[in-house]
Amino acid sequence: MANVGRIVAVSGPLVTAAFDRPVVQNEVGYAEVDGLRLKAELIRVRGDTADLQVFEDTTGLFVGGRLEFTGEMLSAELGPGLLGLVVDGLQNPLVELAEASGYFLARGQYLAPIDRERRWAFTPSVGTGASVRAGDALGSVPEGVIDHRIMVPFGWHGWWTVREVAEAGDLGVDDVVATLEDEAGRTRSVTMVQRWPVKVPIQAYRERLRPDRPLVTKIRIVDTLFPVARGGTYCIPGPFGAGKTVLQQLTSRHAEVDVVIVAACGERAGEVVETLREFPEIVDPRTGRSLMERTVIVCNTSSMPVAAREASVYTAVTVAEYYRQMGLHVLLLADSTSRWAQALREVSGRLEEIPGEEAFPAYLESVVAAFYERGGLVSLRDGSTGSVTIGGTVSPAGGNFEEPVTQATLKVVGAFHGLSRARSDARRYPAIDPLESWSHYAGVVDADDIALARTVLQEGNEVAQMMKVVGEEGTGLDDFVSFLKAEYLDGAYLQQDAFDDVDGASSADRQALVFGEIARVLRATLRLDGKDAARRWFQTLTQATKDWNRAAWGEAAFDEGRARVRELLEEVRGDA
Ligand code: ADP
Ligand code: MG
Repeated sequence: MANVGRIVAVSGPLVTAAFDRPVVQNEVGYAEVDGLRLKAELIRVRGDTADLQVFEDTTGLFVGGRLEFTGEMLSAELGPGLLGLVVDGLQNPLVELAEASGYFLARGQYLAPIDRERRWAFTPSVGTGASVRAGDALGSVPEGVIDHRIMVPFGWHGWWTVREVAEAGDLGVDDVVATLEDEAGRTRSVTMVQRWPVKVPIQAYRERLRPDRPLVTKIRIVDTLFPVARGGTYCIPGPFGAGKTVLQQLTSRHAEVDVVIVAACGERAGEVVETLREFPEIVDPRTGRSLMERTVIVCNTSSMPVAAREASVYTAVTVAEYYRQMGLHVLLLADSTSRWAQALREVSGRLEEIPGEEAFPAYLESVVAAFYERGGLVSLRDGSTGSVTIGGTVSPAGGNFEEPVTQATLKVVGAFHGLSRARSDARRYPAIDPLESWSHYAGVVDADDIALARTVLQEGNEVAQMMKVVGEEGTGLDDFVSFLKAEYLDGAYLQQDAFDDVDGASSADRQALVFGEIARVLRATLRLDGKDAARRWFQTLTQATKDWNRAAWGEAAFDEGRARVRELLEEVRGDA
């Protein structure tokens, strides 16, 4: 019999319902209005009433109305066919939903994300009699370029014996692929689809490992100076228009991962539309086909109800963990986590909780930490490894990094790519500030060269500040050369033309080689005859290095570019 409660209060996205039979935290309820059932999540129990956040516009809900508790926690559906989808925070496939209900999404309409009609070429990987546990593969189906493992459902406890397994062949997602028996002799069937509560991490792996290998993004300033690790976490704060979204698209396209999950949470509707329009056109450099084939976009705009926005990051990270469990490397990009935090703030305000800084809930830090902790590198029981790397943008008002969301994020992430307004205004892209940013992870180039680069940037900045006061005339030649060295490193290496096919993506080998040459310049004592001569020489060198950056690896022009840079250095080298 259904567990039905009565609505006793409605406040914005929140309803309070009285109940007689037990309810549980995070369970799903449906508030009924005009024959519609509006999905909601239980977020607090007080005595015999429960507060639920409704994922839809609550107009029309009334005191005395019915609210049905389902007993199921807010869950994601996991199985083949997720790649390529654009879903909302409740995993409704948006294109299909629009087809079913017209351009304006109807209230109370929910669709399963996974196509029930589609058939998949299943190949078993275990035989009858095998002993398996939650998360172990029973077989696989090809999903685009991915080998999609069909696994023992993550919530099944203990050891199971395979009693039957389907032969190789085409199956639908609801067909039984295996029958398993537990230690007490009970049997259960496994299909290709399982459900998992989005707020609970999937931990069907053997152990968590320390993220110790770089995730090559092919963005030089990132991989060389502020690397990200596979299974690590990083944060990209930046003011509006500083290039957060472009950076995320570049990373999605070029980073060395198998699957990309984008949580486009709560930026203005126009921006999400842009993401939806642009993403399918991004060409995957590995396959030459649309990047969408190995991407899932979970999106919500700030015009959608706050609860749906809150759900979207959890749905996204759950899907990321699901693919990690197949031994894949997954990149989750959340843009922007500030909008997500604002959703938390709004709901917390409605609940009349004691507010923390800037009216964010006092538990903001632990919620942010728990989200980033779902990233990680893991080893699976079959010996393979998988990872979820999480990159979150933060859009602090006025670019003020002191605000609570940025601060809470900085405490937990392993790298910080701070975007600077001054750099983006000067069109120095990517606008990652080389003086403010940091990373705790190991990168792809020589550590001594990195230390040198930092010193050069620091010294160059000091001279630049001084020159603002005393002018170029008041600056000595040595200081001026320090300044030019920093400008050279920035202009010829840290900046990268996202729209050039070769320069836009730089492999780890290429970075190590080019940066080695640049470090030779930075280290050298230069015989330059006055400031004008110094400026001219650095201009020529910068141009030569930029030309080299546009020459494809392995082609004659690449070797020529390197020779030209060396030749220029020899012309003025004082310490040879
Ligand atoms: P944000 O998401 O931070 O508000 P966007 O990523 O939308 O900012 O970037 C704003 C604009 O800046 C872009 O439309 C583009 O013209 C320019 N831009 C940003 N990053 C780059 C880049 N790496 N290369 C060239 N242009 C860029
Ligand atoms: Mg943006």
